[in-house]
Amino acid sequence: MSSVTVRVPAKVNLQLSVGPVRPDGFHELATIFQAVGLFDEVVARTPAVPGITLTLSGEGEGELPLDERNLAYRAAVLLAEHTGAEPSVDLHIHKAIPIAGGMAGGSADAAAALLACDTLWRQSTPREELTALATELGSDVPFALHGGTAIGTGRGENLTPVLSRGSFHWVFAVADQGLSTPAVYAECDRLRGGRTVPDPYVSDMLMQAVRAGDALLLGKALHNDLQPAALSLRPVLRQVLEVGEDLGALGGVVSGSGPTCAFVARDDEHALDIAVALTASGVCRTVRRASGPVAGARVTG
Ligand code: ATP
Repeated sequence: MSSVTVRVPAKVNLQLSVGPVRPDGFHELATIFQAVGLFDEVVARTPAVPGITLTLSGEGEGELPLDERNLAYRAAVLLAEHTGAEPSVDLHIHKAIPIAGGMAGGSADAAAALLACDTLWRQSTPREELTALATELGSDVPFALHGGTAIGTGRGENLTPVLSRGSFHWVFAVADQGLSTPAVYAECDRLRGGRTVPDPYVSDMLMQAVRAGDALLLGKALHNDLQPAALSLRPVLRQVLEVGEDLGALGGVVSGSGPTCAFVARDDEHALDIAVALTASGVCRTVRRASGPVAGARVTG
């Protein structure tokens, strides 16, 4: 085997409940993740010369670091350390997930690189060990491996799968410029002032919507505690959400730490209508359609 290709999805948070700051500086979270059909692809090849190299095309080309600051690179190093395999791989990322968009693209690449290197290096690392390595790389990495729909607690890394019926149709309004996740959490803290923050919780209405495959209910139940902070840092997002609503979306929400806004549509045709009108409105850089849930990182070739 000289080449392995892994496809990995983006995520949207159907609900993101942000609790108090923990002693380790992270916020206690309760979230419902859904993996959606907007994919990065990571190709791992046996190199001519031993060592790790990384190249990237698509979103973020020429912008993202290609050394140990890149989560995919770090994933390869971590797996080699863990398994004792020689850290030798040429990695290439074909990137479609927007950067710093609140869709966990970096985490997705880390999950894909773990799986691609594990396969290329013929390690067959047990799933639980891969998940533990994923957790070391970042809070959202385990979900990118897992996919589907899941409740995330702690920093989002403790996952409980959620059975979900059918498929939801999403439209994503992608912004010109990303938002830094730490900056959005800091703004959330600032807006909360010194107020006591309740423990994070999972919404019953959302769970019901997901279990029943009820897009109308899902649209009503979407909720993100980071949304006020994202809107405060990027006021134009208010307009993006209003446009989506005016176009008849069943609901709209800032995805994760933003600035991508996610809208639920009734069906594929409705999603296409919303996407076309959002594009024409000029309030965002680009628009993507995807359905969810989809599987997590998978070897495709
Ligand atoms: P999240 O939803 O998990 O908060 P995000 O979607 O907002 O994440 P990402 O695109 O995952 O943001 O990454 C944010 C930052 O992480 C980037 O600005 C970049 O500096 C760094 N990063 C490291 N590796 C990658 C990668 N492979 N792809 C994207 N960003 C990466």
